[in-house]
Amino acid sequence: MQTPKVVAFKTNAGISHDLLKGLLEKGEKYGLTAVFPFGVDKIMLAEWVHLKCRYGCNKFNTNWCCPPATPSPEKVRKIIEEYTTAILLVGTKNCPDFYLNSARKRAAQVKCWKGTLSLERMLFMEGYYKAFSLVGECCALCKECAYPGDCRFPQEKRPSVESFSIDVIGTLKNLGATSKVQSHVGATYNYYGIILLE
Ligand code: SF4
Repeated sequence: MQTPKVVAFKTNAGISHDLLKGLLEKGEKYGLTAVFPFGVDKIMLAEWVHLKCRYGCNKFNTNWCCPPATPSPEKVRKIIEEYTTAILLVGTKNCPDFYLNSARKRAAQVKCWKGTLSLERMLFMEGYYKAFSLVGECCALCKECAYPGDCRFPQEKRPSVESFSIDVIGTLKNLGATSKVQSHVGATYNYYGIILLE
């Protein structure tokens, strides 16, 4: 009988080149184009991001992965302090249905969601026991979120990056990267997820 592989829990051990390669290979199946490890001190938190969720987004108070169901900015600061390292996930999307609630748009969101969670799972299995995903956009696993009723897939429920009051553009600048606004429907744009790691 084959002896099961024993994986040590990781604490501040960094992330190997081979693991990053494996993450990217898996992520590519879900539309990701890059994965970057970085220090959480580069994450820019901003109260105004919460304002954008509260005023101007039709998902506010309608989804378990968006405010007010997600942690407050004060709580987020404390959570981030418990980590030192994270991985930025970059994907590229072209979404002609940006303002529609179409099956095609939802399928793309679900793909992104499942990809992020599969990488989180992979990291957990490698010993990164604190790995926790913040997913780009909001959860679309159900056609209509059950909020405020019980979530139908609680094991896959994660906060969105924006719901964590993360200024994505500011964070990218801190990482020496840039991004641009999608200037018209149908333009190709990048989306971003983050996995808090250790
Ligand atoms: S899995 Fe369904 S019920 Fe749960 S947060 Fe996502 S959309 Fe809402």
